[in-house]
Amino acid sequence: MLTRFAAKTSILAAIVFTTAYTPAFAQSPPGPSRPEFPPMDKVLEGFKQVVSTADGKPSLYTLWVNNKTNQMYAELPRNYASMKQFIAVTVASGERYAGLQGNDFYVYWRRYDNRLALIAPNVDTRSTGDAESKSSVERLFTDRVLLDLPIVTENPKTKGPIIDMDAFLVGNASSFFPGARAMNPKLASIKVAKAFPSNVEVSFEIASSSGLLKELHYSISSISPSPSYKPRAADERIGYFTTSYVDLGKYDSDEKNVRFINRWHLEKADPSLKMSPPKQPIVFYIEHTTPKRYRYWVKQGVLYWNKAFENIGIRDAIEVYQQDADSAAPKYMDLDPEDVRYNFIRWLNNDIATAIGPSRVHPMTGEILDADIILTDGWIRAYERQFSELLPKLAMQGHSPNTLAWLNDHPNWDPRVLLAQPTERARLIRENQLAQLKPMAGHPIANSDPSMLGDDQFDGLTGRTSQVNGLCLAAEGKAFELAILRMQLELAAATDDDDDKDKDKDDEEEEDEEKDKDGEKKEDNQKEDKDKKDDDKEEEKKKEDEKEKPQILDGIPEDFIGPLISDLVAHEVGHTLGLRHNFKASTIYTLEEINSPELKGKPFAGSVMDYLPINMYLPKDKEDKTEPDHTMVAVGPYDMWAIEY
Ligand SMILES: [Zn+2]
Repeated sequence: MLTRFAAKTSILAAIVFTTAYTPAFAQSPPGPSRPEFPPMDKVLEGFKQVVSTADGKPSLYTLWVNNKTNQMYAELPRNYASMKQFIAVTVASGERYAGLQGNDFYVYWRRYDNRLALIAPNVDTRSTGDAESKSSVERLFTDRVLLDLPIVTENPKTKGPIIDMDAFLVGNASSFFPGARAMNPKLASIKVAKAFPSNVEVSFEIASSSGLLKELHYSISSISPSPSYKPRAADERIGYFTTSYVDLGKYDSDEKNVRFINRWHLEKADPSLKMSPPKQPIVFYIEHTTPKRYRYWVKQGVLYWNKAFENIGIRDAIEVYQQDADSAAPKYMDLDPEDVRYNFIRWLNNDIATAIGPSRVHPMTGEILDADIILTDGWIRAYERQFSELLPKLAMQGHSPNTLAWLNDHPNWDPRVLLAQPTERARLIRENQLAQLKPMAGHPIANSDPSMLGDDQFDGLTGRTSQVNGLCLAAEGKAFELAILRMQLELAAATDDDDDKDKDKDDEEEEDEEKDKDGEKKEDNQKEDKDKKDDDKEEEKKKEDEKEKPQILDGIPEDFIGPLISDLVAHEVGHTLGLRHNFKASTIYTLEEINSPELKGKPFAGSVMDYLPINMYLPKDKEDKTEPDHTMVAVGPYDMWAIEY
């Protein structure tokens, strides 16, 4: 019986096998067959190869453009099948936040006969355990195809596949930019086409579905883990952004969730030195759109951090250069801020009070690859809207999904409603109730793995493995403080005006008295002499006054706004060094200590990563000459400690 049964199954298996495989053998002889493509020189007729380096070194992709038809073709790198690539995208123009880093994609190409698929490898679930677990994880957690394209032709010399870049990057724009769609792909034009040895920079201007012209920038580079970079395990006592994954090769549940901190690959150039320059400094460029009057202060804010690196024996770890559009002597204008190789501090005139320090990270190791800080003009200009916009947000920080659900049921207790203008309240209640229908009462945590660090509402881990700066309200806080300062300055100016008026009146009266004393005999020329002398005196006095008067920048004294900008920049640079917020840092000193002479010129809080209020000190009496710092003038002791980690 047993033998007969075994025999039957094997016959069945043989039948299945034959049915499944016979047709393939019947159609063509074994061995790979090359599909027929139109000849490459025919396809590239009217196209010019892009050469962006002086020595004409081969580039990652070979690019060809046809400026008449606005078409672009590219030959994939020779070893594309085994190469991991990093595609970093940015909306470069046509939006209020144009310039803010968009998504990034860790991908590889895979050929299917005459097509190519762009595939994102699975990075969330891994195994570092035994061969069995590795094989199982590989089978269960597979890679994901993002898009696929036809191969247009092949390079007969290299056999490299050539693709249509318009079809890739304009036709599939929505795969990279959520919701992006060209109104008519034929209206796309090439804005940037640069080919470098390890990356290509490509951007297209498209007419978006609303008709608005938008430039979509793609920075495509080869990416491989630096051999000497060692991922560092996260520790919840030090607030770093993390790159996390689940290791199913580990059978101890405490070891299952692996979290690396995000950090730069910074090493001593000479490890034998106590104090060494870095092998590779972190270089920031300040964008040319930054107002000249604020550039010095922006630079200082970046350089604050060098103290923390000196503390670990690295001198000049961060370097700062100024981009300048001056036509006589342009500086660094050929560098694209969207290029993944360059870190920029960008200045956006968008009338929004915000600043943000996002970064791009290697999803396997947490190594920071690129950072572009966004500063805006709005926080300097911002005024009264702060009260209705900032306070509700501050009141909502750190609330759990349960609190959110409760507040939605009890709108009379909801700070978002209570602090809003009465005319806005009905709309806000309705909006919050709609949000409640989403998972976890609309809390962003619903989109992320709660076992990971940094999944609070503004922590930026939602829907991604590597956490980056999600939302930073530091600039909004500064806007609020500046609004108060402006109010104070305006009140003071109004009081001064009143004093001046009184004084002028007194002067006139004195002059009249003098006239009366001397009688009416005095000659007119004598009076003219006196007037002239008075004029000269006044002129001199004015000049002296001008010297003594503080420099005013946009209505605020420079010695006030300058250090404030440095402080804000230091906060955002901190984010790009991998640091999260530290909202306990302001508790390190008492108000009395902050305003004591001992702390003058020194950090008065534990960290620049807090949302620190401006220290506004009112003298106790006329004798009180205390002039404490109004903002952080260096990174704090916690910051030094965090960088040391
Ligand atoms: Zn922040």
